[in-house]
Amino acid sequence: MEGAESGKELALTAMRQVEAAAVHVPDFDPGILEKIKHTKREIIVHFPAKMDDGTVRIFTGYRVQHNDTRGPFKGGVRYHPSVDLGEMRALATWMTWKAAVVNIPFGGAKGGVECDPRTMSTHEIENISRRFAWEISPFIGPDIDILAPDVSTNPQVMAWIMDTFSTRKGYAVPGVVTGKPLALGGSRGRLEATARGLFIISVKAAHHLGFPIEGAKVVIQGAGNVGGTAARLFSRAGAQVIAISDINGGIFNAKGLNVEKALDCKRRDRCFEIGEVDGERITNEQLLELECDILVPAAMEKQIIKSNAPKLKCRMVVEGANGPTSPEADSILADRGIYLVPDILANAGGVIVSYFEWVQNLQELLWMEAEISERLKRILTRAFQEVLAISRKRRTDLRMAALVLGIGRVAEAVKLRGIFP
Ligand code: NAD
Repeated sequence: MEGAESGKELALTAMRQVEAAAVHVPDFDPGILEKIKHTKREIIVHFPAKMDDGTVRIFTGYRVQHNDTRGPFKGGVRYHPSVDLGEMRALATWMTWKAAVVNIPFGGAKGGVECDPRTMSTHEIENISRRFAWEISPFIGPDIDILAPDVSTNPQVMAWIMDTFSTRKGYAVPGVVTGKPLALGGSRGRLEATARGLFIISVKAAHHLGFPIEGAKVVIQGAGNVGGTAARLFSRAGAQVIAISDINGGIFNAKGLNVEKALDCKRRDRCFEIGEVDGERITNEQLLELECDILVPAAMEKQIIKSNAPKLKCRMVVEGANGPTSPEADSILADRGIYLVPDILANAGGVIVSYFEWVQNLQELLWMEAEISERLKRILTRAFQEVLAISRKRRTDLRMAALVLGIGRVAEAVKLRGIFP
């Protein structure tokens, strides 16, 4: 499917989810349903950036702000060829529900630049980061909309965005981004927070299904911030990570991979291909169909779809990526008894520690790592229990239960504030 069509379909899925979840939310006002189905603000910028060869290229960037009823907008920024308005709408909407599921005072947003960073130099990436930040700066800030890393962006990109925004203001504004380097007011634990959260939730879900993490066979699609860090955490806890991949394909070893070695060599380009890691080369399609206990899609949207859902051989799917499973695949997995922990719960660790970073920036405090881990665990444990309780009461899967919890909280906030004027 073409990029724009795929983005439109994602946005439609996000809207339909609201309608489906609303059925389970008591006294849901139809007016509120219409409000929260739609995004509040959509910013599209076409901006120039200088390339290393002296030419000027025009890029298209987006910042979609879905809902800020419960607090400032919050969401990642990605650099990827698939970035378009539809994709941004869906991802911004899911961010709103995610923040509400874990009950932190943020709304949802998402942004990105349509580009292929694999073909760009660091200097070119700095140029697009700074110019994009400049163009959207009237609409962002610690009280308005706070940016964070996502696919192909990192603490350095956040530092450039923070510097550009601060230059415009005339003073340092660390709270405009989270996931920045520690030296600029970043939080301890933020870099690994999404994977740490995913690991905490996986342990809870495995316990619920009656199997331990120790000895569990784990397959991970994506070896970036989320997938790579999750592989490390599973492996340190005694699980067997039997396969991992990146955009070029993956590597499989039925006895368990040496994760450190695999990630170390992954830093060099296309490394899984050249036999440096003890394992057999596989495609991303084959990886998803491996027999395992836990499958973690941690790359992009729409990886588990109608055609491959019948072939999955895992006990549970824990969604590290946003939107990796299509609605058709969701029902196929449910019919086949495969337990699925949805993105808006499973990967919420990142936004939780982003919230801690923002709080520390506003209060000019620095928390210790142990304090952050403890708070993260407490919030996720409570969210998991709340989602599980709704799924039992309403006899729904975990995705629907998480949506009911998140959407219900946002709807209540909208009702209390009322529709202006
Ligand atoms: P990243 O850029 O660090 O890593 C992405 C990984 O996915 C890379 O290894 C890349 O090679 C691989 N990849 C890309 N396209 C692929 C494809 N078509 N098939 C297989 N592999 C592919 O990004 P990240 O921050 O780890 O984000 C991964 C996912 O997790 C995204 O969906 C993102 O929205 C979601 N997420 C990230 C965070 C965070 O804090 N970084 C928080 C919540 C959710």
